[in-house]
Amino acid sequence: MVYDTKYHLVWMQKFRKWVQRQDIPKRVLEIFSDIAAHHGFEIQELRVAPEKKGVIKMLDFTFVFDLLNEEQKSLVALMKEFCQREVDRKRMNELADKPVPPNATKKDLMDRIPWDIISKAHDVGLRQVAVPKEYGGGGYGDRWITMHALAEAAGYYGGKVGRLFTLPWKHCSTLCYAPKPIQDEFFPAFMKNRKTLFAASITEPDHGSDLLMPYDDPSVGKTIGYKDKDEWVINGEKMFCTAGGVSDYIILSVRTDKNAKISKAMTTFLCPTNTPGFSVHRVNDMMGNEVPSNTQFLFENCRIPDRLRMTPVNGAYEEMRSRLAGKSLHFMTFLGESQWEWEQMRDYAKKRIQGGKPIIQHPNIGMLIAEGDCLLRTLRLLIYQDAWDCDRMQDKQGLVSPLGWWYVNFWYKKVIYRLIEIGHEVYGGMAPQKELPFENWVRVNMSILHGGSTGSLSLVKASKIL
Ligand SMILES: Cc1cc2nc3c(=O)[nH]c(=O)nc-3n(C[C@H](O)[C@H](O)[C@H](O)COP(=O)(O)OP(=O)(O)OC[C@H]3O[C@@H](n4cnc5c(N)ncnc54)[C@H](O)[C@@H]3O)c2cc1C
Repeated sequence: MVYDTKYHLVWMQKFRKWVQRQDIPKRVLEIFSDIAAHHGFEIQELRVAPEKKGVIKMLDFTFVFDLLNEEQKSLVALMKEFCQREVDRKRMNELADKPVPPNATKKDLMDRIPWDIISKAHDVGLRQVAVPKEYGGGGYGDRWITMHALAEAAGYYGGKVGRLFTLPWKHCSTLCYAPKPIQDEFFPAFMKNRKTLFAASITEPDHGSDLLMPYDDPSVGKTIGYKDKDEWVINGEKMFCTAGGVSDYIILSVRTDKNAKISKAMTTFLCPTNTPGFSVHRVNDMMGNEVPSNTQFLFENCRIPDRLRMTPVNGAYEEMRSRLAGKSLHFMTFLGESQWEWEQMRDYAKKRIQGGKPIIQHPNIGMLIAEGDCLLRTLRLLIYQDAWDCDRMQDKQGLVSPLGWWYVNFWYKKVIYRLIEIGHEVYGGMAPQKELPFENWVRVNMSILHGGSTGSLSLVKASKIL
């Protein structure tokens, strides 16, 4: 009896990014050949399949304009694969919607966080893309473009998980222009710890928009720090801090000159949240809660060493404005999720039959679906343009102009308000039903509409520097 047994083996490794490196495909072929020789197998064909191009459908914009190089594209593909494998949208929504009372404990807040996903994201290198190369991080050219493309993919494929990426990317980007000793202390610790989270705090109970307004009011800002030998003693209250209750560090901006105009009075520190005198005072229960939750702090003689001061004394204003520009990363991940949401809406309109045909074929509905697509495209263009500018127009210190961010902030809100209106027309009575993802998406977007001040105030700020 004669046997002729043939096997077709397809080996799919978990993450492709590293395997695309030049030396690895060659070595893989050698290893397979060695194994075959050892066992006396005959290999008829052996090849490493090339990376497929254009797999990220919703990112066609970036492919068309060839904004991304091969490494960036493979990173985006990695984010897609990661989210598809590790992230369950429903689980993320349930975590975000877990009731969060004002007196929630740290444990309650920590229990909302999917630490398993965060740790795995760290293992594959996705959390570290904003860390400078010298500390073992990404070190990609066009860092802002790379992070924005990844943010969009995270929002599109992973929904609310996107913020768990954009928070560390934004804050690591801020630390990139902190003094070297802070970077030397912070980045290695971040690279080692698979779960570090951080937050940024500017807003106070009595001062929100006016902390960053060009009116430059000297009465603004009640949280005060004064210097005592080599420490800063901080007293006061901060408000609305995203992820503040689950973070290891807060990038904290406070008034350090009691009397000066606010633009000449603020200093930024890196405040470890285990510093005595720092406490979470209240948790804000928002209508569209986010997974990392939102908190209010008390500083009671909280002593931060001068070595953790990130800006010149009273010189934080430009840094704060530049730092807020990094918020467009958050809006990019929201855009990714909104793109997914729009696709749900379009598909619903194709399936819902009224008047004898799918409602998308009624011109009033079809036009709305097309308008939503058009608006999202304009928003995407604007955000990528901002990212492009940030990559090219950083000053020596690494600071960027906030102009693009102000426009993104204004336009995002316009687009989202209109999409919410469109969704209510398309879904009709189904719109507020919790069984559709639309209801949750509306709540979250209504909550973040005030994030980083209103769109109209953004235009006021822009008008001052045009
Ligand atoms: C979901 C969410 C997340 C947030 N995360 C953070 C965070 O992580 N860290 C942080 O520091 N803050 C955070 N914030 C706070 C946010 O930045 C502030 O809400 C924002 O700056 C507005 O401040 P406010 O809420 O005090 O509103 P106010 O400043 O009281 O403004 C109320 C209204 O008055 C208008 N207004 C105020 N001042 C002026 C003026 N001088 N001229 C004209 N109009 C004016 C405003 O446009 C607004 O319409 C968050 C907010 C939200 C909703």
